[in-house]
Amino acid sequence: MKSLDEVVEFHGHICPGLVLGYRVSLLALKEFGERAEDEELVAIVENDSCAVDAVQVMTGSTFGKGNLIFRDYGKQVYTFIKRPSGEGLRISIIWESPSETEEEKKMWERYMVGERSEGVLKAVHNRKSRKIDAILHAGDEKLFSLAKGKMDLPEEAEIYPSIRCSICGEKVMEPRARIKNGKIVCIPCQEVT
Ligand SMILES: [Zn+2]
Ligand SMILES: [Zn+2]
Repeated sequence: MKSLDEVVEFHGHICPGLVLGYRVSLLALKEFGERAEDEELVAIVENDSCAVDAVQVMTGSTFGKGNLIFRDYGKQVYTFIKRPSGEGLRISIIWESPSETEEEKKMWERYMVGERSEGVLKAVHNRKSRKIDAILHAGDEKLFSLAKGKMDLPEEAEIYPSIRCSICGEKVMEPRARIKNGKIVCIPCQEVT
């Protein structure tokens, strides 16, 4: 299993979102076993936050393999479905960050309007560390609401032939090609009038 260090290395920094994605992934792996080498585990993510990087590294459901599906709903929901059985686990984040003191709120507001003094930076750093720590140590029941069962499997990633755009000459996979004035074009060329 990949470590949190490996997740941080991929993402570039540690942050509360990433750590949430790490916890989501640990639970998915506990349920479904190993990291996906091919497309045997599908992840449907309903946001494009830092958490999704953790999901990709940990579960092997990745953008490039086509077994990571992004639905732009802006929700903290992650659904994992095993192929070919269709057994699924829907993980919804219910976690609330720890309440803050008036002083902490004030420091955060000063940061948000652009202040970068030593005191403000330290307070912001501590706030982030506390969140990360809380997420790493919270019980699953504090973090997640779960639903299990058979779920609809999205189609497996397909490989399409490439054809050439008649305007820019670059290759484009067939289902994305368009016809403009009777000629085959790519989407960027179609959009240029
Ligand atoms: Zn991040
Ligand atoms: Zn083109």
